[in-house]
Amino acid sequence: MSKNYVVGFPRIGEQRELKKVLESFWANNCSFKDVKNVAKELKKRHWNYQKDAGIDFISSNDFSLYDNMLDTAIMLGAIPKRFKELKDEELYFSMARGNKHSVAMEMTKWFNTNYHYIVAELSLDDTYELNASKILNEYKEAKELGIKTKINLIGPITFLGLSKRVDRGDTNELFSKILPIYEELLKEIAKLDENITLQIDEPIFAKDNDTKLLSLIKPAYDTLANVSSNINIIVTTYFEHSNEATKILLNTPIWALGLDFLYGEQNLESLKLIQGSSKKLVAGVVDGRNIWKNNILKTNELLETIAKTVDKKDIIVSSSCSLLHSPFTLEYEDKLDVNIKNWLSYAKEKLDEISLVSKLFFNSLDDLNEEETTALDKNFKANQDRKTSALIHDKVVQERVLNNIKLQRDGKYEDRIKLQKSALKYKDLATTTIGSFPQTPEVRQARKEFKNNTISKEVYEANMKAYIDDCVSFQEECGIEILVHGEPERNDMVEYFGEQLKGYGFSQNGWVQSYGSRCVKPPFIYGDISRPKPMTVDWITYAQSKTDKIMKGMLTGPVTILNWSFVRDDKERSEVSKQIAVALSDEIDDLQKAGIKIIQVDEAAFKEGYPLRAQKIKSYEKWAVRDFKIAVSSAKEKTQIHTHMCYSEFNDIIQTIEDMDADVISIETARSGNELLKIFKKYGYKQEVGPGVYDIHSPRIPSVNEIKKQIDMLLEVLPKEQLWINPDCGLKTRRWEEVKPSLVNMVEAVKLVREELK
Ligand code: GLN
Ligand code: ZN
Repeated sequence: MSKNYVVGFPRIGEQRELKKVLESFWANNCSFKDVKNVAKELKKRHWNYQKDAGIDFISSNDFSLYDNMLDTAIMLGAIPKRFKELKDEELYFSMARGNKHSVAMEMTKWFNTNYHYIVAELSLDDTYELNASKILNEYKEAKELGIKTKINLIGPITFLGLSKRVDRGDTNELFSKILPIYEELLKEIAKLDENITLQIDEPIFAKDNDTKLLSLIKPAYDTLANVSSNINIIVTTYFEHSNEATKILLNTPIWALGLDFLYGEQNLESLKLIQGSSKKLVAGVVDGRNIWKNNILKTNELLETIAKTVDKKDIIVSSSCSLLHSPFTLEYEDKLDVNIKNWLSYAKEKLDEISLVSKLFFNSLDDLNEEETTALDKNFKANQDRKTSALIHDKVVQERVLNNIKLQRDGKYEDRIKLQKSALKYKDLATTTIGSFPQTPEVRQARKEFKNNTISKEVYEANMKAYIDDCVSFQEECGIEILVHGEPERNDMVEYFGEQLKGYGFSQNGWVQSYGSRCVKPPFIYGDISRPKPMTVDWITYAQSKTDKIMKGMLTGPVTILNWSFVRDDKERSEVSKQIAVALSDEIDDLQKAGIKIIQVDEAAFKEGYPLRAQKIKSYEKWAVRDFKIAVSSAKEKTQIHTHMCYSEFNDIIQTIEDMDADVISIETARSGNELLKIFKKYGYKQEVGPGVYDIHSPRIPSVNEIKKQIDMLLEVLPKEQLWINPDCGLKTRRWEEVKPSLVNMVEAVKLVREELK
């Protein structure tokens, strides 16, 4: 007896085949039939990988040509009016990506992952209608290959909870339109086979929900579980505990609960209830969203703990969430250090782990065959090796971080800002930018050639310096007051630092789907972090040498570096972040010694790291703020520290932002007028603020007048002494043709405002 389970599998393909064919189709270089052929081949391959690994519960409908939430909208017939005329793939991809006439549907982050889903637009006016073909076909497709799958669906409550209400439709009323379509779907599914297993994903249950949302659970699952006696429903949650929902679900006739015991350790509290319920438990114990080799003995212990309460025969061993959030396979990683590679495991390797974990759990050690014993032995050795390897464990770093660091800068803000204003002599409404300037094809090319050793360091540096020269002279000509060097040497704001920090690794093929055909390849932190040598000083001092104006140093903050990397799982995130902070504090010290007077420490992903549950927010904020302050602790009182954050909702976190104690913060507000700024006033925020005065996410060039109006609005909320003027975010995704006139207009607008204020 051994039962194991995979919540879902990546679909992009081990060589990103899906990405490639989609992009080729969108560029009119192949037909939709080609896309379908690749999709078919990938599904087959992925099912077989799971089958060969000995997985009992393999999914269908975890595949998607773009996104599962979008598929769910299509299944329900929830098509926004602007796309109603379209059909088939044209409809599907227009909803996802927009077309000549209509903007795409919005996209947003899937809980606290880096996956982005398409946000459904719901309205009470719409009539919904079942379109079950994808789901039914995928089941049949697998069955023809001899694989009986469980069917994955996004649950009705999660779908509704994550959708956008076009007409602010009442939740209950909308729900009463959606649920019957799910019922109909289940009736169709019931006809497929004698017995069917259905995984219904309800990750929204892992959040703090109000009673209104929770009150939908019982009627929904009573209804769905009663549609047909030949369907076994598993309600699956992940990323956090879902204890409130578990209580309710146990009183419905569903067959099983899928719970994440890694990121939702508190699910252990529900075991007692499950024990008496005769329900099966799909126990998420193998991490589905990281890259580390499972510690099989430890996982076995966790399972044994669960089995103290829930009968072993009712337990199914599973990944903690869909493997969609892991890269595909280690097979193509031939450049990684062999030691490090031996500590890793991607989706395909995780299949073997799940299989082995379940073998060990359901059998005695003696029952394992030779191959399994060897695998277990290897796993044990790899984990032992990781515990002690000198590549990971750096005594010097550990000692220093533990005993010997400064926790914050000297002086109070009120005193610092006076020193800074008199030393730096910038005007009210000082103009600056967020850091990057357009990454031209030439710049990218030069970086690539340098990386591939096809151009020398000298040629590369000369190239970058020429770009910096251009940036400096443009900024001087157009009259920007605080300059930046433009970041041409940076491929990515995290990777650039990762590449220079010890303890950081890079994969060749560690791609993870971010949205649609887009994948990201996050760097990974495997060991204690230190900074062998300065990372930015040469570039910044070069840029400073080219101007008499102030050149702003540019760093990425510890929390953002952490949040955009795969982080080692043998240390608390807060500890890792602290090590990065200490390394950054050395960089700031060096910049300052080299004569740099303003340093910006970007925390673009500060908010992304927020936990799903309110209960955990305090502790996150505590160490995140602590580490930002450690990073800037080396800054002298008269060195001005800026920070930048990309999102605009500050209501809940304004106190936290203030606690970070940056002298100046630039934020994204251009699209929301001065509404968002009001919180700064209401709260009595004292530090200086640079609310973005135009939206850099669009190629549009804002006029002088438009920017001036924006500044006038800002002045209604905050005094001129407290305001900086800058664009919303970095300009690297824009073209010079857009950037130049936009910034000229920005400077002109400030001139006009200043005159009026005289
Ligand atoms: N300094 C970075 C840049 O300008 C900030 C990017 C960001 O906020 N995402 O590109
Ligand atoms: Zn930004």
